[in-house]
Amino acid sequence: MYDYQEDIHELVRQLRKHRKIGVISHVRPDGDAIGSQVGMCLWLESEGIEYLAHNDDPLPDDIGWIANGVEIRPYSQDELETCEALLFVDGNSPKRFGNHSRFFEEYSGPAYVIDHHPDPASGYSFMVSEPEAASTAELVYWLYDETAPDRITKEVATALYTGIMTDTGSFRFSSVGSHIHRIIADLIDRGRLKIAPIHQKVFDNRELRQLKLISRVLDQIEVYDKHNMASMVVTLDDLESTGCDYNDTEGLISFPLSLSSVDVAIIFIEREGKIKLSLRSKTDFDVNLLARKFQGGGHQKAAGAWYDGTIGEAVSDVMKTAFEMAVKPAS
Ligand code: 5GP
Ligand code: MN
Repeated sequence: MYDYQEDIHELVRQLRKHRKIGVISHVRPDGDAIGSQVGMCLWLESEGIEYLAHNDDPLPDDIGWIANGVEIRPYSQDELETCEALLFVDGNSPKRFGNHSRFFEEYSGPAYVIDHHPDPASGYSFMVSEPEAASTAELVYWLYDETAPDRITKEVATALYTGIMTDTGSFRFSSVGSHIHRIIADLIDRGRLKIAPIHQKVFDNRELRQLKLISRVLDQIEVYDKHNMASMVVTLDDLESTGCDYNDTEGLISFPLSLSSVDVAIIFIEREGKIKLSLRSKTDFDVNLLARKFQGGGHQKAAGAWYDGTIGEAVSDVMKTAFEMAVKPAS
């Protein structure tokens, strides 16, 4: 397993120098973003450090409930200016933080990162950057474990459990070792967690319109047998005619990826003038490298990007690039 202690202790030393810290998670937040953010905010509070939690986007229903008493507010420059330092969670490049990246461009105070994505950007005062970690929430767990394990309350345990569970695909990704299950056991014990309601809130919460969207877009899966890849498109028309919006597309990528013959799945979601790509891999095909060719990024097995153009152009351009990468190692 990776070695985290030195970096965690250095982050703790740095954070303890401040009286008020702005804690920011990435746009279109997921369980790990919010779970880590809540975990860090509650840790700061337990240290007597004031926090201000921000996110550029509204919290999705399946995840928002874990924020519990931590109020995660939209971007506000005035509020951020009252903080002595910033802490970015679950992202390692300013462009992952929406409006916060503009604030950061002009910002000269201390800025910290706790994250598990590869290839971090520079310009931060200190980062805990551990690409071998399955989730950022797991790094936040180590921070508690090293400083104050008895402060793992039910709220903290729920947030960290949800972060780890969602970022590991319910503990099934290759990043999951025995240490993850030990962390989970400790969270369950300390937080007296009941697991079933957490899974129900995260997964069994669909609306009928979302099933209608699934039924519609399943028909549009393309399988490219030669390369063990699949694509799926979601047009504005698909969203409108089912009463859905962009937020309802979360998780759709799991359908093409669940095909036994498919190693790499890419979903193309139409937005005003732009196409959102979500890329997933089940093998050592690196979708982070593919996303980077389109100015996006992420992890080897899960990545995203935005494409400027029509959905047709996006599909042909991105799939062509993916096929080329599958044939020869990416440069
Ligand atoms: P999703 O496909 O769920 O939006 O994102 C999967 C992963 O890819 C996320 O963990 C995130 O790290 C990364 N990701 C998604 N969209 C972008 C993007 O536009 N730029 C970068 N750099 N990473 C992204
Ligand atoms: Mn994460």
